[in-house]
Amino acid sequence: MSRTIIISNRLPTKVQRTASGLSFQPSEGGLATGLGSIYRADGNVWVGWPGLFVDDPAEQAHVTEQLQADSMAPVFLTEAEIRDFYEGFSNGTLWPTFHYFSEFSLYEQAHWEAYVAVNEKFCQAVLALAGPEDTIWVHDYQLLLLPEMLRRERPEATIGFFLHIPFPSYELIRVLPWGAELLRSMLGADLIGFHTYGYMHHFLSAVAHLLGLPNHNGQVETPDRTVLVDAFPMGIDYQRYAEAAASEVAQAHERTYREYLGETRVILSIDRLDYTKGIAQRLRAFEVLLQRHPEWVGQVSLLMIVVPSRDQVAQYAGLKMEIDELVGRINAQYRTISWNPILYFYRSFPFEELAAFYRLADVALVTPVRDGMNLVAKEFIASKTDQRGVLILSERAGAAQELADALLINPTDTGQLAEALHEALQMPPEEQASRMVAMQALVRQYDVFAWTELFMNRLAYSKIKQETLA
Ligand code: UDP
Repeated sequence: MSRTIIISNRLPTKVQRTASGLSFQPSEGGLATGLGSIYRADGNVWVGWPGLFVDDPAEQAHVTEQLQADSMAPVFLTEAEIRDFYEGFSNGTLWPTFHYFSEFSLYEQAHWEAYVAVNEKFCQAVLALAGPEDTIWVHDYQLLLLPEMLRRERPEATIGFFLHIPFPSYELIRVLPWGAELLRSMLGADLIGFHTYGYMHHFLSAVAHLLGLPNHNGQVETPDRTVLVDAFPMGIDYQRYAEAAASEVAQAHERTYREYLGETRVILSIDRLDYTKGIAQRLRAFEVLLQRHPEWVGQVSLLMIVVPSRDQVAQYAGLKMEIDELVGRINAQYRTISWNPILYFYRSFPFEELAAFYRLADVALVTPVRDGMNLVAKEFIASKTDQRGVLILSERAGAAQELADALLINPTDTGQLAEALHEALQMPPEEQASRMVAMQALVRQYDVFAWTELFMNRLAYSKIKQETLA
């Protein structure tokens, strides 16, 4: 029987050490939800790092056994590997380069070598499980080398690869000392998926410029195979968000917040701490709104959630300081005894409270300077069961390719952003509803389950196509 093997850097379960032993917490991330029905099906498996260091062989055996019961297989990584492969090459080189922040990129040979070694480790873990003709779906920028590594050992396998972050212009890839090798490795797959046609075209152009390989209608001809390249915008579990927002728990949370906020309008901002998210620009735009349109002083608050992330990396720590300073300055200048301009939270919130925040918000302000997709924008839309609310969205988020009925802005244009806020806060309810209805129809239809199905069908087709061409 042919099996499907999913591979991502992290497993969809978080294993943690607690006072009473190891705990296994399923993760509720979008990918885990979308692929849940696949990897849990008979014989299938998800391969990835369990999220903690386990050196003791007996403990490794215990973790392996526990995860196996839920269709997962762990790849154990050492602290040095996480430092050099994950924080070093993945987050210190690939992440900034692929998000057009080349000036932050590190070019460390030792990080590259760790990246090769860890991809090889994942490869061995997959080979131990995969038969010659299994279907293998590799995810994201931490594992760009894996498709080719697997191809060498399993020439007949069906291999898909999906990139969850942007793919930049070939000029950025050219800056990377290992750019050509990364491209060649990705081409070990039969199907390569991106969130948008823009990323897909950048990839095809990089392959043409840097490897000299032509393409026709999204098909790359390598010396031995045809590789399909296509766009698959990832969706969310729409029903889950719509139901959570309508739930009694979320409504109760919302009532509590309202008691404190009174009549104050709410602009919502939710991100991980990241220089790609445009958080500082957003704060400046809010300040410009208060300067240019003082009628909003005392009337509207920015509810800003920043989820701690990668704070070991210098740029992230610097960004955190910049945000703290901006929030402090704006609040000190504008606040009154009964009103806070910015309600700033540097922590993560449980799902039910996020649902209440989405309900509460008049405006969602999603302004990344670069973002592969941005799921927060889609979650906000799914949560607006009363069709009230306005989405302001950066044209540089992947989601902007689908959500044309948002107020689309250039995130670095603070003046434009401030005016978009002013417009959103005054938008008549009928216009809010008509935009929201259009976006809801789209986000509902192309949910994460449709995304999975489209990719898997296209992957199966890529193989059929190669066989008919052969
Ligand atoms: N999120 C969360 N807890 C929080 C804030 C956000 O779980 O306190 C989730 C949010 O619901 C969304 C995800 O984090 O699903 C962020 O995904 P997105 O694509 O917007 O950005 P990424 O962090 O992947 O760059």
